[in-house]
Amino acid sequence: MDAVDLHAEAWEGIRRGYEAGRLAHAYLIVGSSRGNALHFVESFLKLLFCKSAERPCNECGGCRRVETHKHIDTMWLEPQSKARQIKADEIRALVHRMSQTSFEGGWKAGVILNADCMNANSANALLKTLEEPPQKSILLLVTDSPQALLPTIISRCQKIVLSAGFASNVSTEAWRLPLMNILHDFPPANGLAASRLAVQLKGLFDGLKAEISTAVEEDLGRSEESLEEAKLKEILDARTGARLKEVQAEVFRVMLDWQRDVLVLASGGEYLIHSEHKDTLAKQAELHTQGSALQAVRILEELTQRLNRNIPDLQVFDEALRRLIR
Ligand SMILES: [Zn+2]
Repeated sequence: MDAVDLHAEAWEGIRRGYEAGRLAHAYLIVGSSRGNALHFVESFLKLLFCKSAERPCNECGGCRRVETHKHIDTMWLEPQSKARQIKADEIRALVHRMSQTSFEGGWKAGVILNADCMNANSANALLKTLEEPPQKSILLLVTDSPQALLPTIISRCQKIVLSAGFASNVSTEAWRLPLMNILHDFPPANGLAASRLAVQLKGLFDGLKAEISTAVEEDLGRSEESLEEAKLKEILDARTGARLKEVQAEVFRVMLDWQRDVLVLASGGEYLIHSEHKDTLAKQAELHTQGSALQAVRILEELTQRLNRNIPDLQVFDEALRRLIR
């Protein structure tokens, strides 16, 4: 079910606020960063970035880019290291991008998932933006443990409490390292290298699909023993597909953040999301002009849109990576 249906009351408040031009600059959304609250955030962003009159339409380019976490005017942050901390540098990068003009001339949004993972320095880096929010900017903080946030943060956000969500089946650790290995080999130098990366990317998703399918099957085995085989298979496929789509969106978001970091460096900027990989990013940026780095971001954005159109995944990856050759 859509987040919009699940949280009708909270959603109605946001929708009316949007129409009346009375949205707050910052919201604290209490719920699961992988489940209900994530879906709520996506619906919220679609409202801002939808290009149709009846918004959100869930079909236009704006809505689709939100869904795949690839909208160029939305910045996503979540704890990435083993220590599960959101670092002050990452917050500063987000604050900096929020202070610049939007790429598409409309809203700018910053989303912080698991916002309780901000340490004191990170929270302080965020406070200034909460006190003096840039024009047409919205900050969405998501957490299931609001009590872990600084009171000064909480008091500056409008709070939305969602009902319980569902757990995630696959941990970030399952894909983060293999993905980083792939990204470190960006951009491919020739067709052979592009094909090799495409096969690696396909392998990453195949592995994730198998893992998700097993986890979903275990859940089903526990809860739905009375169902007949065919029905069970149908539910299994549907849930695996839905969960895989969510994980794919996370993976592509990290890829896009990476390529955007290259763009930042190629444009002479310095604030990076993947700041721990600065040296590698700088080497990749040297291979680009500002224009080609922007083009590379666009290619990755298009990649996800093509994935859902009955073209074999490997072909989509291969074609995209060939276009990235430098
Ligand atoms: Zn739309």
